[in-house]
Amino acid sequence: MAYEDKFRSDPITPGLFYCLLCGKGVRNKHNHFRTHFPGDHRCWHCGVVYCRLDKLKTHLRNVHNVDCVQRTQWMSHDLNSISDW
Ligand SMILES: [Zn+2]
Ligand SMILES: [Zn+2]
Repeated sequence: MAYEDKFRSDPITPGLFYCLLCGKGVRNKHNHFRTHFPGDHRCWHCGVVYCRLDKLKTHLRNVHNVDCVQRTQWMSHDLNSISDW
């Protein structure tokens, strides 16, 4: 998704951009742009993208056998299962 044209750079502060959608001053254009379009949920296992979080949850459960959507908890869970092997 193109986000470059949704921002205008600050004439005074290098690296600062203003979002044309909400007028907020941000530095990370990509991260901020995503907050306006949260419908992009990428599976961190295989990279497939779902437009809805519940679809991704179902995918994680069915395909990767992951029942937890909290990434930090998921990571510790994964580490535990590796050490169990
Ligand atoms: Zn914005
Ligand atoms: Zn996946």
